[in-house]
Amino acid sequence: MEREFKTEELLGASFDCGCGRTHSTRFSRMIMEDGAVEKLPGLLKELGCSRPYVICDTNTYEACGAEVFRVLEKAGVAFDSVILKSPEDGDIPADELSLGRVCMAFPKDCDMVVSVGAGTINDLGRYLSYIAGRDFVLVLTSPSMDGAVSGVACLIQNQLKITFPAHAPLALVADLGMMSRSPMKMLSAGVGDILGKYNCLTDWRLSAMVNGEYFCPTIEGIMRSAIDKTMEAAGKLSQRREEDIKTLTEGLVLSGIAMDFAGNSRPASGAEHHISHYFEMQFLFDGIPAVLHGTKVGIGTVMMLRLYNELAKMERPDFAALKADAAAKAAAGPYEESPQFAAWKAEMERAYRGAAPMVTALERKAQKNAPARLLKRLESIEKHWDDIVCLAAQTPASGAIRGILEGLGAPVRPDQVGVCRQYVADGILYAKELRDRYTILQLLWDIGRLADMKELLLKEFAE
Ligand SMILES: [Zn+2]
Ligand SMILES: [Zn+2]
Repeated sequence: MEREFKTEELLGASFDCGCGRTHSTRFSRMIMEDGAVEKLPGLLKELGCSRPYVICDTNTYEACGAEVFRVLEKAGVAFDSVILKSPEDGDIPADELSLGRVCMAFPKDCDMVVSVGAGTINDLGRYLSYIAGRDFVLVLTSPSMDGAVSGVACLIQNQLKITFPAHAPLALVADLGMMSRSPMKMLSAGVGDILGKYNCLTDWRLSAMVNGEYFCPTIEGIMRSAIDKTMEAAGKLSQRREEDIKTLTEGLVLSGIAMDFAGNSRPASGAEHHISHYFEMQFLFDGIPAVLHGTKVGIGTVMMLRLYNELAKMERPDFAALKADAAAKAAAGPYEESPQFAAWKAEMERAYRGAAPMVTALERKAQKNAPARLLKRLESIEKHWDDIVCLAAQTPASGAIRGILEGLGAPVRPDQVGVCRQYVADGILYAKELRDRYTILQLLWDIGRLADMKELLLKEFAE
């Protein structure tokens, strides 16, 4: 039986782990109850804050920010604030413009950043608090994504989604009464973000096998507890009971702590996030309002798990032929001067448009598709093939995860959120170029099966 981790035991934790690293988190206080916002002034005082800077958007202001302002005023707490204007339909992008607005309104004498929100507003506040050297408190408005208490911020720079170091919140205030009134699509997005862990944890283990990448079983165990919490709550969320909202929120918080322990998003983000980021970038390029993060991750998860399900029954590749091909390409001359690099670069310019230079620069640095690197991985994949198939067989059936999301009324196919067939095809082939992070997509490319797996996914998810 796996150990179950509880949020309370991990608050402000710092310990030497069996994996050889020391894990710690700044996140040390959590007020999760009906009417929790009433306790914000007392909490801020306890944390030594004399003048908070409160960040909202028009949606989160309406849902909770107005209440935060009222409570602070009533308690006589002086504060400054900024309210970003939400688009009619969708979420504010966490990009240079939004961050600029938040920074420009930031008065230097504020000694604490308080975000009232869930996704973008949280990322912006977390990053500002980090660069401004202030502490950070989060008033969570809905359990819609898992990044709530993590120590990284996902921001868009030059139209590319990048993970930046940031401050995890010192404290989290989650008003369960308020959160239970969140739109259903936000609750199902939270579930989608966590169900994605089935995939990304497998990606992480896969990379540990193939590349010898660092892996921590304790962090994985915390993530598994987050999944268990979420599964416990998922079927009951439509009743909007505070106890189920609390269970889901605890799952999201556990996931954030695990990320904070890892110091990066590896335990929380794999191919399901990469393809979701790829879709989001196309929305940005086309000027279409963003779809909730967890909603896209849920769709990506159903698709990527389908690939693992296929991998579980895949025949052993012809490694001799694959290695001979890679060796011949490696011997033919410098990778970046090769015709295949030129062809790949042209594809990046088409599929990534304005963000192509950053993707190309990443590949020049990471060399993940270079024949010499591929050859080395093929040796490793060949050696571990049986274990890889076994790992794939342990992932849940894509259809089961799809059923859970559908039960919540969440979209499970890209076209349900307005992603066209071409973007789905390109996402399957090229989402892996967004990061130097090994996933199922890179493995399938390594063994020469990505193109035909793309056809399979297109048939099931984009026809
Ligand atoms: Zn560890
Ligand atoms: Zn996520």
